[in-house]
Amino acid sequence: MYLTVRNVTKRYGPFTALDDVSISIEKGEFVCLLGPSGCGKTTLLRLIAGLTDIDEGEVLLEDQSLLGLPARKRGFGIVFQSYSLFPNMTVAANIGYGLKIRNVPSDQISARVRDLLEMVKLPQLADKLPGQLSGGQQQRIALARAIAVDPRALLLDEPLSALDAKVRAELRGEIRQLQRALGIPTLMVTHDQEEALELADKIICMNHGTVVQTGTPEELYNHPVTRFVADFMGRSNIIPTDRIRAVLPDLMAHRPDGPEDAYSACIRPEEITITAAPAGTQTVRSIGFLGNLRRIETDGPLGPVLVETHGQAKCNEGDAVTLEIPAQACTWVRNDPAGPVA
Ligand code: ATP
Repeated sequence: MYLTVRNVTKRYGPFTALDDVSISIEKGEFVCLLGPSGCGKTTLLRLIAGLTDIDEGEVLLEDQSLLGLPARKRGFGIVFQSYSLFPNMTVAANIGYGLKIRNVPSDQISARVRDLLEMVKLPQLADKLPGQLSGGQQQRIALARAIAVDPRALLLDEPLSALDAKVRAELRGEIRQLQRALGIPTLMVTHDQEEALELADKIICMNHGTVVQTGTPEELYNHPVTRFVADFMGRSNIIPTDRIRAVLPDLMAHRPDGPEDAYSACIRPEEITITAAPAGTQTVRSIGFLGNLRRIETDGPLGPVLVETHGQAKCNEGDAVTLEIPAQACTWVRNDPAGPVA
């Protein structure tokens, strides 16, 4: 493991923000810390960066403890949500700042700044001030500044969340390309599951100051272990055991043993085939048009069940319908004792 956080606990007075958290990042890996607001993502990133003290546990980089080492000596490149550029310095001076304080000769700094501006596709902005740039441009420059010093890892705290949807999508792709090309191990905080699914090699899903599940985007989306992860990773139908037993008993075959309320079935809306049929037991409540797909809400003995289909819906509001759910589309998830952070 390249970067390791081991059994870290962080308290603010009586409040435990991180409770015995362990994570790791391998060389070249892009890892997303994903979770709702207040779950402890930023706290975890900041204590890796050395910007917050920890109460218990270890932070190790290539087996060397970082504890006691100030942030500027840890060798990380950091990008925050916004406002992280020096407002009175030009773009070029911002990018070159880390090199200048390391006494790199000025001709080398100029050459490096030029290369980095090319890399983030803004070669024409060298002499502008941050206030003259758009939010997306500022974040590109912040990224260039973080990369300039050849960081041992990149730590990104919601770098895209202040940008509008189109710019965010563009920059997302570019961050991924840059990270791949340079191979810098990267840890990014986000509360946006789509962002995590698209960018990450590995997602660490957090709730209430603990790690709930770690895995590839596919593992978390297709095989969530708890109801919280299932809900957080996208739209899902969470159906209690008694309803499944009554309506779709075949799906009970893979249910883990345990009390009735210990597990629920998680079924993604796009995995369900819906057919209008007079003998169907679910009823269509509404059909929403979302451009490339239809979102169909049904109700009946299974409870409310959402179905998503591409193309035309083959049913109308008020129709009786049957829902076909293949066995492999059903994942049994543990009902979390605590819900998501409010
Ligand atoms: P967000 O996405 O909203 O930034 P987060 O998951 O990054 O959320 P943190 O910022 O890590 O969450 O905060 C975790 C918890 O710790 C929150 O309940 C927050 O109120 C609390 N907290 C964070 N910093 C402090 C502090 N300096 N003093 C007291 N409590 C704090």
